[in-house]
Amino acid sequence: MFGRAPKKSDNTKYYEILGVSKNASQDDLKKAYRKAAIKNHPDKGGDPEKFKELAQAYEVLSDPEKREIYDEYGEDALKEGMGGGGAGHDPFDIFSSFFGGGFGGSSSRGRRQRRGEDVVHPLKVSLEDLYLGTTKKLSLSRNMLCSKCNGKGSKSGASMKCAGCQGTGMKVSIRQLGPSMIQQMQHPCNECKGTGETINDRDRCPQCEGEKVVPEKKVLEVVVEKGMQNGQKITFPGEADEAPDAVTGDIVFVLQQKEHPRFKRKGEDLFVEHTLSLTEALCGFQFALTHLDGRQLLIKSNPGEVVKPDSFKAINDEGMPIYQRSFMKGKLYIHFTVDFPDSLSPNQVKALPAVLPPKPTSELTDMELDECEETTLHDVNMEEEMRRKRQAQQEAYEEDDDMHGGAQRVQCAQQ
Ligand SMILES: [Zn+2]
Ligand SMILES: [Zn+2]
Repeated sequence: MFGRAPKKSDNTKYYEILGVSKNASQDDLKKAYRKAAIKNHPDKGGDPEKFKELAQAYEVLSDPEKREIYDEYGEDALKEGMGGGGAGHDPFDIFSSFFGGGFGGSSSRGRRQRRGEDVVHPLKVSLEDLYLGTTKKLSLSRNMLCSKCNGKGSKSGASMKCAGCQGTGMKVSIRQLGPSMIQQMQHPCNECKGTGETINDRDRCPQCEGEKVVPEKKVLEVVVEKGMQNGQKITFPGEADEAPDAVTGDIVFVLQQKEHPRFKRKGEDLFVEHTLSLTEALCGFQFALTHLDGRQLLIKSNPGEVVKPDSFKAINDEGMPIYQRSFMKGKLYIHFTVDFPDSLSPNQVKALPAVLPPKPTSELTDMELDECEETTLHDVNMEEEMRRKRQAQQEAYEEDDDMHGGAQRVQCAQQ
């Protein structure tokens, strides 16, 4: 990019200024800059030199292209790249692109570059996509600066001061409230939509009709990496709508994992449900499980092993790939449910005790039986049962409350 022999130079200073590590994410950088800039803002009694340094470091590191150059060749390469000056932006502009207006006094410091809005899109992905990784091509429409007029809106590149607001972009309306009282209100100029300029009808750019931007279709390739999580963001910096005099915002895709019919994911692990018949639970089982990549896993019990209801077993390295370390994988957990038969035939009842372990208690004697009272067991739905009890309790409590009023309880609490 720069026709000069690359030389190794100091490329850690900016990171040190912001107090972040060399592999800090964009988020880390933002947080570090925000914190330090507030602390060192000259309007708050901070050191202007330090404030300028922070802005410069942030400006470079927050721009992926500049950061790459800086990491590779250091500060000097950037100065040359920026066309000799290397001064970059006004530190107050960078500060206010973060905080909107800056603090009190500094808001009068000339016109600031505003930052365009980020555009956020949800991106539905299957669990298979997150397991295998994939690339999704998405066609989006965005506003681009008009190429014909370079975002000026006019053929000549000239614009006129808006007559409605004298170029300030704001209009002041005055309302008489009383004989010696007026109210002043400021609002964006309606004639120029707050831009402060108008374009002569004959000079209007034919391509954008003076709008300065034109909609354009753009295809983005979103790379979904192995092991990415539901809710993870994939950012395309500076790909949102362009607007004159504004830093273009980002397009952000937020992954939304679709439910999988068979597998559930928790972090790096996968969970699968499997129901065994009672005979399988007691005498052994084997079955094939189709994994997310189509492989067939043979899953079988150990000889002589009994699988208990509601138990788990795990297979190592068959869970999800770990993000950015996809050669490592989590575990695959199998949750077993045992399907007991509802009843047995008289023949089964006769045959089973002969092969199963003996019953723990000996039979009751006739005399003991004589002293017992007969009972009847009946089926219950325990959840329903508890719900009904809670409801009855609540009603009793409310009745109690109505009878004694609130004062009684306050008194009790004080004792
Ligand atoms: Zn105006
Ligand atoms: Zn144009």
